[in-house]
Amino acid sequence: MRVITTKTEMRDQVRGARGSGAAAVGLVPTMGYLHEGHLSLARRARSECDLVVMSIFVNPTQFGAQEDLESYPRDLERDVAMADQAGVDVVFHPSATEMYAPGHATWVDVEGLTDHLCGASRPGHFRGVTTVVSKLFAVCEPDRAYFGGKDAQQSLVIRRMALDLDQAVEVIVCATVREPDGLAMSSRNARLTSAERAQAPAMYRALLEAEGSIGDGERDPHVIRAAVIGRLADAPSASVDYVEVVSTSDLRPVDRIDGEVLLAAAIRFGATRLIDNLLVSPPD
Ligand code: AMP
Repeated sequence: MRVITTKTEMRDQVRGARGSGAAAVGLVPTMGYLHEGHLSLARRARSECDLVVMSIFVNPTQFGAQEDLESYPRDLERDVAMADQAGVDVVFHPSATEMYAPGHATWVDVEGLTDHLCGASRPGHFRGVTTVVSKLFAVCEPDRAYFGGKDAQQSLVIRRMALDLDQAVEVIVCATVREPDGLAMSSRNARLTSAERAQAPAMYRALLEAEGSIGDGERDPHVIRAAVIGRLADAPSASVDYVEVVSTSDLRPVDRIDGEVLLAAAIRFGATRLIDNLLVSPPD
């Protein structure tokens, strides 16, 4: 497995592989500090592509001024070993100055879908994500790119972007990988104290209970939302950023649960903000 740090070398590597017969190039964009969630994307890419590229780049433009860019966990050596084990061919690990040339002034902004959920609580976040993913698409020229369902809004936003900007990339969304107690794997879980870590599975449990209530016939999103928030009272370190019941097409809050909805939550456990979601369809 190679580790490449420049855009020129990365592009040459992909074009060289295509020249040698690689028909399908897969890209797995990550910010590193890898866990099984990232590795599940890499394995899926391995099973479907001839060349698998994983980018490891803590993208500064998607962090707000008060957010955790500096303290975001990093361990490149460990990541490289894990990526190699999962069958990745190339790790692309550019520096911030390599990725963003001096004077960078161009941004990709997906309207509408980014108004809600994490877009509302993290202004500018998705503009950073869509800009860096567009740049990764331009450098790596993938046929397929793999994203996790844990970041449901991100996946929808990137699908919209690829469609709108005629980026010839198939966006593949993979299931959320969880710890045995249900907590969605996340690089940020490493930053939880042991008390917070013990409380963090409450978020998934609350979402599962909400799913159960919808299964039992509850159709009022306000009742569901209140139940999720009420359930989180069991976790004293939890503070709610948002809990929403939204449409899967435009991510707007629904008035009534009539078809498939996304139950989405962002909860802070102490200083660490975690997100999770469930796609729920009421029984016919
Ligand atoms: P990140 O490094 O957190 O930016 O995540 C990189 C990619 O891995 C994104 O597409 C995430 O949605 C995906 N991912 C993160 N956590 C998980 C998980 N628990 N299960 C599946 N995919 C995940």
